[in-house]
Amino acid sequence: MKKLNNSEKEQFKNWFDQIENIDNFKSIIHELYVNYRYSYRNILSIVRYNYKYIDIDQIVDILKEFDVKRCSRGEDCKSPVGDLQTRNNFTNRAESVDGKRLECIYCNRFYTNFKRANKEKQNHILEFQKIKSPNQQDEFLVNLYKSKEYNYKYLSAISLRHIDKIVSLVNYRALSTRLVNVGRAHINNAS
Ligand SMILES: [Zn+2]
Repeated sequence: MKKLNNSEKEQFKNWFDQIENIDNFKSIIHELYVNYRYSYRNILSIVRYNYKYIDIDQIVDILKEFDVKRCSRGEDCKSPVGDLQTRNNFTNRAESVDGKRLECIYCNRFYTNFKRANKEKQNHILEFQKIKSPNQQDEFLVNLYKSKEYNYKYLSAISLRHIDKIVSLVNYRALSTRLVNVGRAHINNAS
């Protein structure tokens, strides 16, 4: 962890000095993890300026209550919501300090898929990752599907979305296009 400077130390010490109840304490831990992006161990050392007898399990337990966990890939995390996620997005790993793997399931899937993919698929994976807006991502997938060269499974692999989501996206798009066309036909007939 980057060393805390004196004003940071002072600031956090003040926070802890002003604690009135256990919920205040918990929300400071949450704040340090979520907004300041400190690791469990960083937080432990900060807390220990004021509370000598806290241990890492207590820090982890508080964050479990908030159901937050940060993916170790940080800004490169492939999760659609970013690196800060529900603990459900991490596979269990008994021997780790919080009982979870460091990397989220999206990153895990991404790197596994990427390694196995041929060049064309790797390019699609990278292209998809570059698109930030969910609507444009949908568009990209629907267009690949329309090109008739790629199936649901392929689109699921490059987008990391569950195959059911791909099926419903593609079919819903097809349905709405059809309905728009039907609507146009009605208008044309009427005029
Ligand atoms: Zn991740």
